[in-house]
Amino acid sequence: MARGGEGNGAVVEFGRLLDAAGAITVLTGAGISTESGIPDFRSPGGVWSRMTPITYGEFVASEAARLEDWRRRFRMNASFAEASPNAGHRGLTLLAARSTFVGLITQNIDGLHQRAGFPPDRLIEIHGNATHGRCLGCGAAMTLPEVRSRIERTGASPRCPCGDIVKAAIVSFGETLPGAPLRQATEWAARSDLFVVIGSSLVVRPAASLPRIAAQAGAAVVIVNREETPLDPAADLVVREAIGEVFSTLFPQLVQ
Ligand code: NAD
Repeated sequence: MARGGEGNGAVVEFGRLLDAAGAITVLTGAGISTESGIPDFRSPGGVWSRMTPITYGEFVASEAARLEDWRRRFRMNASFAEASPNAGHRGLTLLAARSTFVGLITQNIDGLHQRAGFPPDRLIEIHGNATHGRCLGCGAAMTLPEVRSRIERTGASPRCPCGDIVKAAIVSFGETLPGAPLRQATEWAARSDLFVVIGSSLVVRPAASLPRIAAQAGAAVVIVNREETPLDPAADLVVREAIGEVFSTLFPQLVQ
């Protein structure tokens, strides 16, 4: 049964676990970026209440779906560019400086961890990155300005010189996660003593399986999330507070 809940006591207990742990791995989701003004998927008013996601199958099968996906991508990237990292992102960058920190696995595609100065060699973007396109055949990259200018010039979605479809370099619903980042994330989860989930509803797999893998290998699991998750009953501590407040309490230097 999980301890914790709302209030300062749960945050203090979280701080104690962070200080005592020998190896810390963190998984972040869309919830860490809501205080930067980027809506998550499943909170009230989140992205899903306004539009249905375009699946990988739809993107590959339909030119109309591809054009709509690129339109959404350009809008979304503009909102990412306007946003700034918040206390949650900055607090994790401070945590990464500790010798006990193993790594950060993020489901996010907004680039805010990097913009908060998080060390790239400790970061796995398990769902990819929205800042460029990639050919589904040969894997060649295409910049977003190039994608946009091709669509404006021809009215059609871009193709790679090899002839295959170019898609934003993120993992869409229905798309298989690339093997190497998932293997690395699983390895980090399995060797942690403390696995911390921050701002994820824990319903998107395989990312949602990582805390279970960590727990099976003996790690304590902490969940920092405003709403309930399916893993709460199995967690060692649940902190049901706003992420920015939690990190401002743990790292007072963030608010000075
Ligand atoms: P989700 O939307 O399913 O869940 C987010 C969770 O965060 C919710 O349970 C919510 O209660 C909690 N939350 C939101 N703001 C919070 C706050 N300030 N303090 C505490 N808790 C807060 O997100 P998910 O589990 O990451 O899964 C959605 C998928 O869509 C992921 O792949 C995700 O990366 C992607 N996505 C990414 C972005 C982004 O890059 N910023 C935005 C939307 C969706």
